[in-house]
Amino acid sequence: MDYDVVVVGGGPSGATAAEDLARAGKRVAMIDRAGRIKPCGGAIPPRLIADFDIPDSQLVAKIDTARMISPTHRHVDIPIENGFVGMVDREHFDEFLRDRAARAGADRHTGTFKEIVREEGKTVVVYRDKASGDEVRLPTKYVIGADGARSNVARQEVKGGDKIPYVIAYHEIIDPTGAKAECINGAYEAHRCDVIYDGKISPDFYGWVFPHGKSASVGMGSMVKDVDLKEATAALRLAAGLEECDTIRREGAPIPLKPLDRWDNGKDVVLAGDAAGVVAPSSGEGIYYAMAGGRAAATAAQAALKTGRARDLQLARSLFMKEHKNVFKILGAMQDAYYRSDERRERFVSLCHDVDVQRLTFEAYMNKKLVKARPLAHIKIGLKNVAHLMGIVPAVST
Ligand SMILES: Cc1cc2nc3c(=O)[nH]c(=O)nc-3n(C[C@H](O)[C@H](O)[C@H](O)COP(=O)(O)OP(=O)(O)OC[C@H]3O[C@@H](n4cnc5c(N)ncnc54)[C@H](O)[C@@H]3O)c2cc1C
Repeated sequence: MDYDVVVVGGGPSGATAAEDLARAGKRVAMIDRAGRIKPCGGAIPPRLIADFDIPDSQLVAKIDTARMISPTHRHVDIPIENGFVGMVDREHFDEFLRDRAARAGADRHTGTFKEIVREEGKTVVVYRDKASGDEVRLPTKYVIGADGARSNVARQEVKGGDKIPYVIAYHEIIDPTGAKAECINGAYEAHRCDVIYDGKISPDFYGWVFPHGKSASVGMGSMVKDVDLKEATAALRLAAGLEECDTIRREGAPIPLKPLDRWDNGKDVVLAGDAAGVVAPSSGEGIYYAMAGGRAAATAAQAALKTGRARDLQLARSLFMKEHKNVFKILGAMQDAYYRSDERRERFVSLCHDVDVQRLTFEAYMNKKLVKARPLAHIKIGLKNVAHLMGIVPAVST
């Protein structure tokens, strides 16, 4: 059978694209290699839960407070008003999404993608089947490459797809039962996410402690090659009173840092999610953007199927950027400004005391919108930002 679309990768991005296409009545295949749990903090915002209809049963924890911790261990607790940040366990969440896509009508193929070839005017996706070990060939009109960071589809098909910059993120999944009641960053709480801005933990990104119900993710990321990720994570665990907790898994993976300028090859392939380099600057948040990108790629593929015009694949990037460009710009500027030195990080955490800063940043995270209703707040924050960066105001202590 010839497919309308073959989706390579069954993570949040690929499973969303496959489900949308199947629901639209298209013949769609989804190839995923299965067997590995994606290393991930698993934090998802309410906008994702609403847009992609995630049932409560997928949430292993609900977070009502974000603690921002400075290099000198000062902290600001930001209450999450009118909602919560959901935590998912990627082992079950990804399988839930893949299964939902299959129930909507997508054909699931389990195996490893090898290459895309063109034969007798047709596009053919080749993969190695996991169960039989055989090479399988799937003829198709279009391909969505959603095979994650360091995507093989991107490397083979899209200019620049092999050069996306990334941070290496590393985390340990632990059992928090043995958490200490007293420690330098404050005792572990199952409803609070900690975000640690400290050059000793990461010189260019941040560290985190994210509760996952029965487990917790403790980790950090960095682009700097000689940073010892395990040592930094051990320091994080010590500061969080989690050093004696049992470790369930240790794992790392790249987080892409910059969306590609082009997501399609002008012919028959379009990328989505990490494969297209799409993760929010500053936060490294990628699940929502992967799913939004998967949806945009599915919309673009449907347009191309309807018109027969390959250039309609460009819609994926333009639809996505139209909605998220401004948030990406602001988060990028924040990362450039505040992740440079401990003095800047100290000031950034101080800035988080401001209720308007809290509301604006959380609105951008929770609902993916920049609030327009409070122009005076924007001006105030802009001025405070400048004052902090110039060192005119002192860092506030808690
Ligand atoms: C340590 C860490 C912590 C993170 N924490 C968070 C967080 O708390 N919140 C958040 O929003 N984001 C977080 N992220 C980012 C987030 O995990 C990614 O942005 C997101 O998973 C991207 O989804 P995706 O579908 O594009 O790619 P992936 O989730 O990587 O999915 C790609 C899929 O493709 C499959 N695949 C890959 N290659 C092949 C192949 N050759 N053949 C067949 N199948 C293949 C894989 O099996 C996988 O299922 C974190 C990332 C890391 C590394």
